[in-house]
Amino acid sequence: MLFVFTRSLLRINEGEHNKVIGLSRRVLRDLWSSLLLYLSIMSTLMARSVIDRTADKLELFAKIKDLAKSKNAVILTHIYQRLEVQRVADYVGDSLMLSKQAQETDADIIVFCGVHFMAETAKLLSPNKKVLLPDIQSGCPMADMINVDDLRAFKAEHPGAPVVCYVNSSAAVKAESDICCTSTNAVEIVKSLDSQEVIFVPDKGLGAWVQYKLPEKKIHIYDGFCPTHWQITAAEVDKQRIINPEAIIIAHPECDPEVWRRADFVGSTSEIYKFVEQSAGRKFVILSEQGLVARIQADFREKDISTVFPLPLCPNMKYHSLENLYNALDQEFTEIIIPEPLLAPAKATIDKMIEISNKKKIWTGPQVA
Ligand code: SF4
Repeated sequence: MLFVFTRSLLRINEGEHNKVIGLSRRVLRDLWSSLLLYLSIMSTLMARSVIDRTADKLELFAKIKDLAKSKNAVILTHIYQRLEVQRVADYVGDSLMLSKQAQETDADIIVFCGVHFMAETAKLLSPNKKVLLPDIQSGCPMADMINVDDLRAFKAEHPGAPVVCYVNSSAAVKAESDICCTSTNAVEIVKSLDSQEVIFVPDKGLGAWVQYKLPEKKIHIYDGFCPTHWQITAAEVDKQRIINPEAIIIAHPECDPEVWRRADFVGSTSEIYKFVEQSAGRKFVILSEQGLVARIQADFREKDISTVFPLPLCPNMKYHSLENLYNALDQEFTEIIIPEPLLAPAKATIDKMIEISNKKKIWTGPQVA
């Protein structure tokens, strides 16, 4: 039927029709062979480009290590950074652990892969060392929510109350405060103060957590927050309870209090890492920044670890790459400079914190390469 139809369509006789059919088959066969060849070339090229990229990264990794050694530089990397930047670091950790490393290192150069206030903290603790931040765009929106004028105005509303500033603040704000804290030691630091009233800046999530843990104190909390942690909603946590009923839900205290109140465990970055490491539980939902979640997933593959959607990702923590880390170290930019008058008063707030925290064992961070 088809033959009759094509013959009538092409208006040709039976012999010519058979030639057309034969030709069509050959064309189809050639097309099929060409398609297979094309697919095989493409898959080879794609596989080769993955291998090339991996080889490039490994080469760059080795170049960074060699350069750091030749310049007597140490690479300190926050655990929210991309995994490849964590892998090249000498030390990976949270703010408190990295502050300690910055204080103790005998390197001449500190390359800090974190956000601006962290590099400033390293500079305050090691003023004679060159501190480099590979990408100067890496700021912290929460730290930028308060400046010295804001803090002075807030202090005027609560005269006499000592100021505890979260390490996520500028050197200028630290210089205007009495003592610094991190999320690991915030409760301990506030508790150590004689005063019944305390001013806490700038994070209202962490401030509320400290108030919850220390109901005997009156804490005046500034209205700053972490946009990344505050994107996690209470409704999403409730949803996780339904779709993941057997999971242990863990929250960072920078989250909205409505979020951390719903969690099974609330802890700082290091406390979250250690909790998953030591827990007999198998399934966890972590309500914190994506870099921490990725690192925990990579280190504890036997456990089922997830987070919420949309992914809590801090874009400011992802600016550093192997490429700009290498360039920064090679050309020694971008150097952190702190105005001289701020150095001593800002450093004093961190020294006081470390003195109190030193009484406890400080997390040494995950294993590095
Ligand atoms: S995660 Fe939040 S607190 Fe940390 S750097 Fe990003 S914005 Fe700042």
